[in-house]
Amino acid sequence: MTNAAIIVAAGRGTRVAGAQVPKQYQELGGISLLRHTLDAFLAHDAIDRVVTVIHPDDAGRYAAIASQHRKLMKPVHGGASRQQSVLNGLAALEDLNPDKVLIQDAARPFASAALLTRVIGALDAADAVLPVVPVANTLKRIRADGTVAETVPRENLAGAETPQGFRFAAIRDAHRRAAAAGVEVTDDAAVAEWAGIPVVTVAGEAGNVKLTTAEDFADADRRLAAEAALAAGDVRVGVGYDVHALGPGDWVTLGGVQIPHTRGLVGHSDADVVLHALTDAVLGALADGDIGSHFPPSDERWRGASSDRFLAFAVERVAARGGRLAHLDVAVIAEAPKIGPHRDAMRTRIASIAGIRPDQVGVKATTNEGLGFIGRSEGIAAYAMATIRLPFRP
Ligand code: MG
Repeated sequence: MTNAAIIVAAGRGTRVAGAQVPKQYQELGGISLLRHTLDAFLAHDAIDRVVTVIHPDDAGRYAAIASQHRKLMKPVHGGASRQQSVLNGLAALEDLNPDKVLIQDAARPFASAALLTRVIGALDAADAVLPVVPVANTLKRIRADGTVAETVPRENLAGAETPQGFRFAAIRDAHRRAAAAGVEVTDDAAVAEWAGIPVVTVAGEAGNVKLTTAEDFADADRRLAAEAALAAGDVRVGVGYDVHALGPGDWVTLGGVQIPHTRGLVGHSDADVVLHALTDAVLGALADGDIGSHFPPSDERWRGASSDRFLAFAVERVAARGGRLAHLDVAVIAEAPKIGPHRDAMRTRIASIAGIRPDQVGVKATTNEGLGFIGRSEGIAAYAMATIRLPFRP
């Protein structure tokens, strides 16, 4: 399975008032907008190749900002329209023939790793995936004279974001047909719609804004300054431990991944010791109680519950404090099953639940050398650590 990304950066960006350079080459926090966008894709584990579509006049500018990176292909030149530029990007991927392709506008630097993971994941069961956000404002249709013609019902309306994801062959063929038919639309999902490809939606992100105006750039600069302050902020480490008994069953859930086994784990919820230990580690880093105080075992709502909600809850508490999860690490202690074959699936799943990248999640395992209750295969235990950053408060 090979996944690629096309970063569309061929526009002239004339809308930013007073700008001397195209907006994608303007700096945010000392780094060009395009570089921010590229880095988000180059850093993602599930993206194998990235091709940038640039304006021929920008070759020098691009060479100056593009990082040397094994995933980064030679840039290709854009065409007369955004649609033609995307088509050129798709042509550049022809030899690679990826399974999935994400198409991103250079002017969206804040798409999170979790959003990329969500779009890529949804392509397992769809040819086209569109991230959408709810429409917050009441919508009005306006007449040419500036007066309101009508209020447009907001139900069933959503704002379209990028990156949009596609099965490569499907979107390449759709773009070719649209070009041959002279059809001009404003985004790639619309090309898919025109070609009759069903477009599935996933949750977008309010923060995944497209920078267009000078005001957008100023907002983005403030956001990056807040991030930088957080990087120099209050680093906290929390520890968590959990154990569950083994009983009848033929699979265990560890790190949100079902693993076939000769026995099952016994517990009030799904008995996922990995997610429970991680949840306590995150809550510990916040000094905010433990899993039992937030989700009492006496509460029937959590009977048989999938434990991903516990970890997601703890991570939300970090965000609510203005903080950021930096790293999760877990050690599983079990005589069996073997964890190694499932390690990467666990890292990917944990990262997805916690809204971080898989390279921010460590999963290790050991047996107990036959010693004690774990050695007698009576249970499975997990130790976890979480590192978070909180805003500095003197
Ligand atoms: Mg537990």
